Amino acid sequence: MDALVKTTAGAGLELRQVSVPEPGPGEVLIKVHKTAICGTDVHIYNWDPWAQLHIKPPMTIGHEYVGEIFALGAGVTGLEVGQRVSGEGHITCGHCRNCHNGNIQWCKNTSGVGVDRDGAFAEYVCIPASNVILIPQNLPEDVVAFFDAVGNAAHTALIWNLVGEDVLITGAGPIGMIAAGICKYAGARRVVITDVNDYRLELARRMGADAAVNVARDDLTETMHKQGLVEGFDIGLEMSGSGAALHQMIDVMRNGGKISLLGIANQPVPMDMNGIICKGLTLQGIYGRKMDNWHQMSYMVQGGLDLSPVITHRFHYTQFQEGFDAMNSGKSGKVILDWTG
Ligand code: NAD
Ligand code: ZN
Repeated sequence: MDALVKTTAGAGLELRQVSVPEPGPGEVLIKVHKTAICGTDVHIYNWDPWAQLHIKPPMTIGHEYVGEIFALGAGVTGLEVGQRVSGEGHITCGHCRNCHNGNIQWCKNTSGVGVDRDGAFAEYVCIPASNVILIPQNLPEDVVAFFDAVGNAAHTALIWNLVGEDVLITGAGPIGMIAAGICKYAGARRVVITDVNDYRLELARRMGADAAVNVARDDLTETMHKQGLVEGFDIGLEMSGSGAALHQMIDVMRNGGKISLLGIANQPVPMDMNGIICKGLTLQGIYGRKMDNWHQMSYMVQGGLDLSPVITHRFHYTQFQEGFDAMNSGKSGKVILDWTG
């Protein structure tokens, strides 16, 4: 089969012929229809310091996908060939304390599809049956292709009760834009998003943000007042990985506000401890998704959450190079690769 493989320790990817994986006991073989390029794939493609530390070539990469069940390994019950599926990309051990208490996103023995084992940028991908997510037939495949990222946004946003709350999102990358849509869908009063990239801020506006502020140029406090906020933001979603953005967020939160942190910083970020203490802020780190987020995404999209504005590029998988160029240009939302035909 064709697969996008990180063949050597360096920049780029190769389209290669590799063997179709054999589903072992308890595993499912999925025929891939559509995939989406994630920021993590771009790190691997560019071979940045994070990738150098975590990726062991040769390996097929990719973890955002939708497809159909093609074959079942021995002992798999409750699933059928032909069902439309995606997959939770974190394969967890099932026996640590967090796996037992339902917080699989914190499993200390996680193995990542397309990071620690062969991934989904291929005609077929093999995962444990317990990671298979059934997808209702009426959801658009282009959107389900990036449900993995939607799950990150849902996890970060929906740990708080958003009804009637004023939300600040820092970082209008694909996940920040998606979060803007989710917050409005979940009943937030005002959603303000920041970035330093006008192209992405415009996409966030299309996703429903009430205001999109380029903090390299414009004053966030002014926007806050124009939006009718008096005491500051109730909820903050940090989705940039920028220390400057986190500091700015802490400054504009109301006393007693709540912040969830998804963005991953490239280096240690000095912390405004006194700001957090004196305002009585709650900070929650977010890693991955909860399994329940998959259920929430399916039904938010069925209920009218339109994620299509996030998709800016579509290519056949053989044009993967153009897809990665688009991601690296900064002028993209989600890039979809088609593996059918
Ligand atoms: P992205 O890199 O595409 O988007 C980040 C955005 O932040 C960019 O558009 C950038 O211009 C913007 N930004 C930079 N400086 C800023 C500032 N000072 N103020 C406001 N915005 C600023 O990333 P993404 O794919 O949307 O993912 C969001 C973040 O979440 C990334 O840091 C990613 O590494 C991280 N992530 C974490 C997890 C997890 O499990 N914790 C999972 C997926 C992604
Ligand atoms: Zn575990």
